[in-house]
Amino acid sequence: MAEKHGNLSINSENIFPIIKKWMYSDKDIFVRELISNACDAITKRKKLALAGECELPEDYKPRIEVITDDVERTLTFIDNGLGMTADEVEEYIAQIAFSGATEFLEKYKDKADSDQIIGHFGLGFYSAFMVADSVVIDTLSYKDGAKAARWVCDGGTEYVLDEGERTTVGTTITLHINDDSLEFSNEYKIRETLEKYCRFMPYEIFVYKNAPDPVSAPENAPSGQADEKKEEPKPVNDIHPLWTKNPSECTDEDYKTFYRRVFNDYKEPLFWIHLNMDYPFNLKGILYFPRIGNEYDAAEGKIKLYNNQVFIADNIKEVIPEYLLVLKGVIDCPDLPLNVSRSALQNDGFVNKISDYISKKVADKLSGMCKVSREDYEKYWDDIAPFIKYGCMKDEKFGDKMLDYILYKDLDGKYAVLDDIVPKEEQMKPEKTEEAKKEGEEAEDIEEDDELGSRIIYYVTDTKGQSQYINLFKEEGKKAYILDRNIDISFVTYVEQKKTNVRFLRIDSEIQEDLTDGEEISAEDADELEKIFRKAAGNETLAVKTENLKNEKIASVITIAEEDRRMMEVMKMYGMSEKEVSGFEPKPTLVLNKKHPLVSYILEHKRSKNGQLVAEQLYDLALLANRPLSPEEMTRFVERSNEIMLKILK
Ligand code: ADP
Ligand code: MG
Repeated sequence: MAEKHGNLSINSENIFPIIKKWMYSDKDIFVRELISNACDAITKRKKLALAGECELPEDYKPRIEVITDDVERTLTFIDNGLGMTADEVEEYIAQIAFSGATEFLEKYKDKADSDQIIGHFGLGFYSAFMVADSVVIDTLSYKDGAKAARWVCDGGTEYVLDEGERTTVGTTITLHINDDSLEFSNEYKIRETLEKYCRFMPYEIFVYKNAPDPVSAPENAPSGQADEKKEEPKPVNDIHPLWTKNPSECTDEDYKTFYRRVFNDYKEPLFWIHLNMDYPFNLKGILYFPRIGNEYDAAEGKIKLYNNQVFIADNIKEVIPEYLLVLKGVIDCPDLPLNVSRSALQNDGFVNKISDYISKKVADKLSGMCKVSREDYEKYWDDIAPFIKYGCMKDEKFGDKMLDYILYKDLDGKYAVLDDIVPKEEQMKPEKTEEAKKEGEEAEDIEEDDELGSRIIYYVTDTKGQSQYINLFKEEGKKAYILDRNIDISFVTYVEQKKTNVRFLRIDSEIQEDLTDGEEISAEDADELEKIFRKAAGNETLAVKTENLKNEKIASVITIAEEDRRMMEVMKMYGMSEKEVSGFEPKPTLVLNKKHPLVSYILEHKRSKNGQLVAEQLYDLALLANRPLSPEEMTRFVERSNEIMLKILK
């Protein structure tokens, strides 16, 4: 074949500057592009053989070699795929035969925003010029009578096409690394990059350093065989990653080992879901629920996305529902248009379907576990609860599926689902008929009627801090549930919206009166007590109520209205400072137990110093059970306590 000089067509003089522009983003992406071309070439050759269009050598083994040479400053990729004829090199490489070329140049000449574009527009091969001054292709086609072809291009718009040297079918691509990218002729840099992008590619990849004759790598035998004694190196990739296997073939240990290796997480995952579907789209993967120590840790999830075992990116939130990003896992979806930019993914109906599918699978797994292996589910619950609750609030469909499988832990550590706490038929307000609605509007007392029928769930946010209330509750034989995570502040409101007849009240938001003891306090005494305690508290607007409390041992308790407290918590959650929030500080109500002798004592000794002391002490004790005292409050409390003890000594 006569040496042939040619020009790269279709505005190619514009292409190189654009390709160079990508250099500041992920330059290493060219490794992925060249290796995936090699994989494609091998797949094509195997398919041709299956179709009877070519014959494979008897002991054919797909194989890719990467050879680094930091002396010659080259990086070489060798495959035993189908190879190309000189004409094909012209057509596929030289003519930059991609339909969208002009469109591409128009669209992206000013913005080099995504490394994904290269692949999408069939420019994958040209990404080599991000790191190379010149690129040589040496290739021999599988076709009968084909001659080896050699193509050299120095990154300008000209190239030379000539006879090549390859004697076995396949392609060798040699990059002469440019001065700015010398790291890519280093073995360890290449190993690291392969680890990143090619760890699970479907054909074995071997790395060699400064191999003597990279061009004529034998087709079947590994190049290391020149020296018989030398052990054959191990491939850098795992060509059968766990997610490609049938779930029934995988053991728990397989899943755990894979998790450790891929995520370098030595804490065992709680459990996992193996996704495996062919219809309506192709998707495989494994999602792990990591052990989440605290809510802060939860942010560290990682979901790796693959397209036919080729790594694409981590945590693409368009494909994975955001709340699932606390999980760790791999998703492989060959149908995914992954080579387009992220903004295009956002509006892709197909991508949304994948996201819905994943979300549905997770909900199915969790609800199934709750129904079938409740014990496990309870064991994992505390770890997974924040993530599930977040998911419910973020994703309506997920929420609707999961709401009945949310666990509530009671004060004895026993778990219940909502149906166990409030019978299903009482969870929703009855649907009003049109007539009733009209009547309701006219009568205006509709709200009040509704409130009366609500089913109340009491909860605790701090088992230590609220221990006095908890004791009250336990003595009364009533149940309360522990909702002590940050997310619960908004979650209870969410449940109330979904289950319209359910209301959550923190146990310090109201106190149970003993209705069997009908005797009420006289208005006079009530006024008197209000005055005394407002003075004792140094708060002229303190609300004071005197009631018959069921628990006779308790003299004074503070309650805080549920709505007010929630409002403040939400404001704090949105990052408002203590100062900004202070104007909205929920107003406490001091509840006094009419039956308690200390309360009677105060009424009887209202003008004495002792009466005053006891009132102040009772107020502080009520405060103390509700919240930590400020340093000043604490000092006064200690002084007064001492004073009272001294009185005993007298
Ligand atoms: P794409 O892979 O998206 O088609 P590329 O720019 O990566 O775009 O490659 C262009 C074409 O060059 C490929 O479609 C293929 O026909 C050919 N090609 C590239 N690398 C090889 C290879 N190692 N063996 C055989 N053909 C190749
Ligand atoms: Mg390609």
